[in-house]
Amino acid sequence: MEDLQQRPDHDRQGLPSPAPNQVYVNVSALNGGFLTLPERNFVTDPDPEKGTTVPSMCFLIEHPETSSAKPTRLVFDLGIKRDLTKYVQLATHHHITTRQPVYSSPDARSSLLSGGLDPAKDIDYVILSHIHWDHIGLPSDYPNSKFIVGSGTLYILENGAPYYPHDRIEKGSLPAEQTTELPPIPDSDRKHMAATSQTNHHWQSISTLPNAVDFFGDGSLWIIDAPGHIHGHINALLRVGPDKWVYLGGDCCHDRRIITGEKQIGHYDGGHGRLKCAHAELSKAQKTIENIQKLIDANGEAVEWIVAHDWEWASANQNRFFPRWMY
Ligand SMILES: [Zn+2]
Repeated sequence: MEDLQQRPDHDRQGLPSPAPNQVYVNVSALNGGFLTLPERNFVTDPDPEKGTTVPSMCFLIEHPETSSAKPTRLVFDLGIKRDLTKYVQLATHHHITTRQPVYSSPDARSSLLSGGLDPAKDIDYVILSHIHWDHIGLPSDYPNSKFIVGSGTLYILENGAPYYPHDRIEKGSLPAEQTTELPPIPDSDRKHMAATSQTNHHWQSISTLPNAVDFFGDGSLWIIDAPGHIHGHINALLRVGPDKWVYLGGDCCHDRRIITGEKQIGHYDGGHGRLKCAHAELSKAQKTIENIQKLIDANGEAVEWIVAHDWEWASANQNRFFPRWMY
């Protein structure tokens, strides 16, 4: 009989074993404001009356610098703008009225300040899972950070999204001179939207995930292509210990029961005779969720996974928000 324990990792698409002198990152959750999600817009068999006020979580990641005393600090997502009047699109303001109550405090900036970090000075990179209003935060709080976005993001920031509702993109809201887009995804049908990347990164597979970028080249922080929700949607896979990883799922889904398989992506009447869901490209969003489910299946307890609006995770893990650390 086959002994699962003795199977080599690649047979079950496991994550790689630590390299000699493997580098690990630390991670901590940050508050990025709160919004209210009506269940009927997100999952199958919803309670039509139920709305849940959920966090828009961000994450602080610290990569130890081997050559100097200072770690490299990254923030994954910036949450909701603390000043709601700073959204530029009328459609965004209208959308926000459908997500009430919305709380913009504590935001990512005040969360960092609470642990003694100054967003204007101490954050080297901001990685945005995507540019929806509840993830984009206030980029002007980070004048010295490099912004990293997924392929296709700059196109929709310039042109609006090529799908309904196309007018809810906060056009021009990232500082162009600070922003770098990751390279085009191999075999993508959206290559015409891809910007020329100024990074040396390349896409490769890791475990069950077909397209990932080894951000520091040492296997400690992987940016994952997670298509479907909106063009350029990316996730992150963090190596936090010899047999421990954290998967940051962004908006791959808005309800953890979709990852566990208890629910599916829901559809609702979006007006104008359209049946809508929370994702721009449904079949790609489903494939992304499948890949994450397979990652969890193949690696079991080694992977802790969190989606941006996971209120259950947040309420059970308040002691792992900055200035305390998850890992
Ligand atoms: Zn979103």
